[in-house]
Amino acid sequence: DPRLQAISDAIRVVPHFPKPGIMFNDITALLLRPAVFKDAVDMFVERYRGMRIAAVAGIEARGFIFGPAIALAIGAKFIPLRKPKKLPVAFTNLKGEVISETYILEYGTDCLEMHVGATEPGERVVVVDDLVATGGTLCAAIKLLERAGADVVECACLIGLPKYKNFYKLNGKPVYILVESR
Ligand code: 5GP
Repeated sequence: DPRLQAISDAIRVVPHFPKPGIMFNDITALLLRPAVFKDAVDMFVERYRGMRIAAVAGIEARGFIFGPAIALAIGAKFIPLRKPKKLPVAFTNLKGEVISETYILEYGTDCLEMHVGATEPGERVVVVDDLVATGGTLCAAIKLLERAGADVVECACLIGLPKYKNFYKLNGKPVYILVESR
């Protein structure tokens, strides 16, 4: 697809961010180019339109940039998967109940939370984030959604690491990647 080269070119690689030795793939430059930003969203929309997707779940924070645009275009709802203690817990109904999934990072742990009632059992869901590296974050997202009864169809990321190209399978779920990280 000719759109992929422009998407890849618009991702800026920042050495030593946020820590020495890390090559950070920065998507903010892509967002400043509306035609390229639109191409990236369109490519996901073309893939998921017609797949009876009920919900797009976006991972905080950069999954919140792409997820809602995809959700609106395919007529799906958007579910924010948030970092700890951001979602309000309402005790009045099930929709306000929060579940969390802790996952291991290179140094330490992190956690994602969602409202259980955000998805109905059996709903077909796509998980969206900007980048997949080890897959730990996406695995936690899949577990959360499955605990709430969702049917996770696929994960979608703009960027993936080349060494895993076409071989990502997280908790048995495929990962759809637009471009390789540089
Ligand atoms: P993983 O859990 O797959 O190891 O890491 C993926 C998570 O870390 C994603 O939520 C992603 O946003 C973030 N992340 C890790 N490295 C980078 C990077 O180089 N660029 C961007 N934009 N996000 C990254």
